[in-house]
Amino acid sequence: MREVICIVCPRGCRLQVDETSYAVTGNHCERGADYGAQEVKAPTRTLTSTVRLTGSHILRRCPVKTNGTIPKALMLDAAKALDAIEVSVPVHVGQVLVENLLGTGVALVATRAINE
Ligand code: SF4
Repeated sequence: MREVICIVCPRGCRLQVDETSYAVTGNHCERGADYGAQEVKAPTRTLTSTVRLTGSHILRRCPVKTNGTIPKALMLDAAKALDAIEVSVPVHVGQVLVENLLGTGVALVATRAINE
């Protein structure tokens, strides 16, 4: 049995997850059951960071995030991959900067509009 703190909402339920059956107890809702099972089977995270920005008089970096979760084991490689990415103004919120980050099927998108 493994204990996991649910981070899906601020309530922070203490989940107990069976490492064989992935049955979850201690959750106050189904989202917690899904999170607990996923966290023990194959943990995933959303990556939030910044990439280089050119053409702006105000900012040097553009904030970005993945539009879904990627395997936690790939977070470091994904963060390193961002070093090679450069975006130019104008940038739109939700603009796809990388279609398929590290073959995960998840896109990297801009999270801020930058026009100058
Ligand atoms: S189990 Fe449900 S109520 Fe509890 S922290 Fe997770 S999402 Fe929130």
